[in-house]
Amino acid sequence: MADCIFCKIAQKEIPSTLVYEDELVAAFKDLEPQAPFHALVIPKKHVESIAALKAEDKELTAHILCDVIPQIAKEQGLTEKGFRVVANTGEDGGQTVKHLHFHILGGRSMQWPPG
Ligand code: AMP
Ligand code: ZN
Repeated sequence: MADCIFCKIAQKEIPSTLVYEDELVAAFKDLEPQAPFHALVIPKKHVESIAALKAEDKELTAHILCDVIPQIAKEQGLTEKGFRVVANTGEDGGQTVKHLHFHILGGRSMQWPPG
C-alpha cells in the first residue's frame, strides 16, 4: 500500500533491523524500544489491524502466533522468563501505524495494567 511505512519496510524500501523474515512475514526491531528486546512482527501484505483481518487471513495469523513469535522468543532467549505480545488496534487501542503489527517485548518484568 502506498505511503505505508511498514509496507515499505517489508519491501526493503526503507531500512530496518530484521530479526526474522520469511515469504509472508517480517519482524524488525522497534525504533523506540520500550524494553531490552522490542520487535514488531508484521505480515508482508497490507492488513490495517486485527479488526480488518478476514477469514482468508487465518493461516497467516496462525503462522505469526504459532510459529514466528515463539521462534523469535526462543532465539532471543525470552521463552523461559516470558515476554509480552501486544497488538494495539484502532484509536482507543493506541495504534499509530495502520499496518497490523504484533509487538514482542521482553528482557524485563512488565507491569499491568498498561497506560
Ligand atoms: P503502535 O503504536 O502500536 O501502532 O506501534 C507502532 C510502533 O512502530 C511504535 O512502537 C514505533 O516506535 C514503531 N515504529 C515506527 N516507525 C518505525 C520504523 N521505521 N522502524 C521501526 N519501528 C518503527
Ligand atoms: Zn502496509
